[in-house]
Amino acid sequence: MAEVTLQNISKVYEDVDKERGRKKAVEDISFTVKDKEFMVIVGPSGCGKSTLLRMIAGLEEITEGTLTIDGKRMNDLSPGDRDIAMVFQNYALYPHMTVYDNMAFGLKLRKYSRKEIKERVMQTAQLLEIEDELYRKPKTLSGGQRQRVAIGRAIIRRPKVFLFDEPLSNLDAKLRGQMRIELQKLHREINATMIYVTHDQTEAMTLGNRLAVLNKGTLMQLDTPMNLYNTPDNKFVAGFIGTPTMNFIKGILKKTGNSFFLETSPGCTISLGAIIPAAVKDRINDELEIGIRPERIIVAKEKNENCVFISEVTAFENMGNEQLIYLSLNGQALIARRPAQDLIEIGATLFLSFQEDKILFIDTISGKIFYNTQ
Ligand code: ADP
Ligand code: MG
Repeated sequence: MAEVTLQNISKVYEDVDKERGRKKAVEDISFTVKDKEFMVIVGPSGCGKSTLLRMIAGLEEITEGTLTIDGKRMNDLSPGDRDIAMVFQNYALYPHMTVYDNMAFGLKLRKYSRKEIKERVMQTAQLLEIEDELYRKPKTLSGGQRQRVAIGRAIIRRPKVFLFDEPLSNLDAKLRGQMRIELQKLHREINATMIYVTHDQTEAMTLGNRLAVLNKGTLMQLDTPMNLYNTPDNKFVAGFIGTPTMNFIKGILKKTGNSFFLETSPGCTISLGAIIPAAVKDRINDELEIGIRPERIIVAKEKNENCVFISEVTAFENMGNEQLIYLSLNGQALIARRPAQDLIEIGATLFLSFQEDKILFIDTISGKIFYNTQ
């Protein structure tokens, strides 16, 4: 059993540079990682992910707040006393030791018997499929093999909690994909609590039971991958999750009869339908921003009654299984995505409509997204 709870955790780096003064890297973050959960902390570079993970590991002092594991306060315990193992991006293997010795090292320090060490190394090597590399030195291994050894060295101690800091970032795309599947498998097999940091939203979405999305040191939202994709709380999460990124369009909210429209420029209006969130309804003639995912823009070559506006193709990518269509709507760039079908010429005129029930309504000042509560 290992439940990790962060309560109002903050980190200030003192005197980073004389002119800027103190640097608040993590600000008032609270969440609980459930027993056996795979929690991913995701966000752009510099948002405080590593700082947060290093505070959980005990490698960095917690400036404010409380960290507990299974209800026990950890703030003042040294890393070795927290029953946690951490895997880093750069592997941090001992170069002069064989794979076997790298994995055995932590157990030797803890005075495990020779027999038990051997059993555990063999078992772990088997799990990670590195049995044939046990007597090689790290520098003779591929990046993927080295990362497996680093993971092996972490899991061999069977700690309560595993922390990963961008462990796949140094691998090429194909190997990263493969290792993602293996990490999922590993999580099922060793059934431990895992906290995994990455800047890569695809990696986050495929690995995490839940994702904590960070920006500039603060927690923007914590939820399952599906909920983050379908019902983001704010513009940051809406734009960060999903590739290609969500389209955002600003305009003035208008109403004619029962129907709402967004006027993006004189004469150019986007139909929003009759049902919009209650919080937005009384903002007629105010500025409003909408968000729409690329796959929710319906593209037609011929005008039909559903087509709301006309757009010009600026670029086109055919991916084999799907197509990305880059559009310009009165100078505003949009991306549409659809299953592969007939090719589209650059410069062509297309007729667009949005799936109205998939439009997100965003407050232009706070970035908050409004939903219908009923
Ligand atoms: P991430 O892992 O999300 O890329 P970090 O946690 O490494 O972000 O960094 C968060 C912020 O804290 C950054 O602005 C970074 O420059 C700063 N920072 C990180 N480590 C230190 C440190 N040891 N001293 C001062 N500032 C730091
Ligand atoms: Mg980092």
